[in-house]
Amino acid sequence: MKLIFEKSIPGRDGFSLPSDLFEEIEIDKDIPEDFLDKNKKNLVEVSEVDVIRHFTKLSKLNYGVDDGLYPLGSCTMKYNPRINEKMASLGQFTHAHPLASIKMIQGSLEVMYQLNLLLCEITGMDQYTMAPASGAHGELTGNLIMRQYFVDHGEKRTKMLIPDSAHGTNPASAAMAGFEVIEIKSTSNGTVDLDALQNAMDEHTVGLMLTNPNTVGLYDGGIESIERIIHQKGGLLYYDGANLNASLGIMRPGDVGFDVVHLNLHKTFSTPHGGGGPGAGVIGVKERLIPYLPTPIIDYNANEKYFYLKDNGEKSIGMVRSFWGNFAVLVKTYAWILSLGPEYLYQASKTSIINANYVLKKLKKYYKPAYDQYCGHECTLTGREYKKYNIKTLHIAKRLMDYGIHPPTIYFPHFEPYAEETIMIEPPESESKENLDEFINVMIQISQEAESNPEILLSAPHNTPIGKTDDVLAVTKPILTYDDELRSIEQEK
Ligand SMILES: *Cc1c(COP(=O)(O)O)cnc(C)c1O
Repeated sequence: MKLIFEKSIPGRDGFSLPSDLFEEIEIDKDIPEDFLDKNKKNLVEVSEVDVIRHFTKLSKLNYGVDDGLYPLGSCTMKYNPRINEKMASLGQFTHAHPLASIKMIQGSLEVMYQLNLLLCEITGMDQYTMAPASGAHGELTGNLIMRQYFVDHGEKRTKMLIPDSAHGTNPASAAMAGFEVIEIKSTSNGTVDLDALQNAMDEHTVGLMLTNPNTVGLYDGGIESIERIIHQKGGLLYYDGANLNASLGIMRPGDVGFDVVHLNLHKTFSTPHGGGGPGAGVIGVKERLIPYLPTPIIDYNANEKYFYLKDNGEKSIGMVRSFWGNFAVLVKTYAWILSLGPEYLYQASKTSIINANYVLKKLKKYYKPAYDQYCGHECTLTGREYKKYNIKTLHIAKRLMDYGIHPPTIYFPHFEPYAEETIMIEPPESESKENLDEFINVMIQISQEAESNPEILLSAPHNTPIGKTDDVLAVTKPILTYDDELRSIEQEK
């Protein structure tokens, strides 16, 4: 497919203005020199038809959850029901302005108020803030809340414990909040090493950020001991609930002792993501941390029967985002929770766990599991058996694209020797057994190809618009514009 720059014809444009209404200007004469860019730009000159066709073609090269299985571990790429979109696009929501008088936006405020109650019920927490715009933003908010709590209690705590299996955003968020990050090793079972945790936890430590089931898809059965170790030393327990897909109706983080929880509404709660946003990384806390939540907090005046946003007082960490957060994401979440109800939320989690264990069971003969035990909503396999044919997990992933399937997460987690060449598969509840069987069969076929015809894997993908790329070059010298392309052709000569 041609770049749009290659379709450019000098002088062609997508509009024409009535010449009797607009004076023609001479750029060089009529615009002061200071305002002119000295570097000549390679701007595209194309017609409206060219633009529409170009971007329509581009959009067809895309792959999304509406095209097929998207088994990206740790991402919960599930189907987003259209009813969510329909609700979020109701005019009363899209036209609501956060600065309108609260009488005019009671419905929008009520959605946030009710969503808070539902999320509290689902997770066992006491109050949520809807402000954070992503999981990482929620983590930072949660860390700032914990920091404020200890400042308020006159305690100097500067360290944050984070298991080595944690999502990369955890240490980044803790560091941004000013904490020193201490890594806690996992055992060969993939769960937190309790001795290491006990040794690291002290009166100068804020607490632990934990994901459970963790980021390799395993439920950490040591949670009761973990809770005791952290709380005995006065610490706080943070739950990275970005992915809650194995927990709905099964385990409430608030019940097992977590003090702060973040949820990615754009994962478990079926609101779209993957293209960089918008998301919502709402933060829930236990009673004693409510005063530190960001401002504003949604509340209800029972006497006069109205919803309103209130300032959260002087202990609050302040605002973390303008206005209401990503409000449309909240509406979609609310629609999803109500359309499923308690029984089917539970079924969603149960199905996602069964799906992951089904894939694990069917594929473990071909791709040795990193941890051979039942998993949560995702399973971690490896491609290490194929190293003897010079095949790496990367090649397996690329070959999947030839079969029209989005590759799973690869090379995460990465602990030698048991978790190397990893393939992390998350088949959410919206996938049928037939879809999973198709994926499983393709994976088995690829494993046979690795043995009988490794060349076809090494040179994959073959059926995609762009074939095998040089991964290093793609990062260090990306070709994003026609100018970049010309430059690279020049360099090749
Ligand atoms: C996705 C994810 C995050 C980060 O969420 P973003 O919305 O991408 O910032 C954090 N932790 C875990 C476990 C995740 O899966």
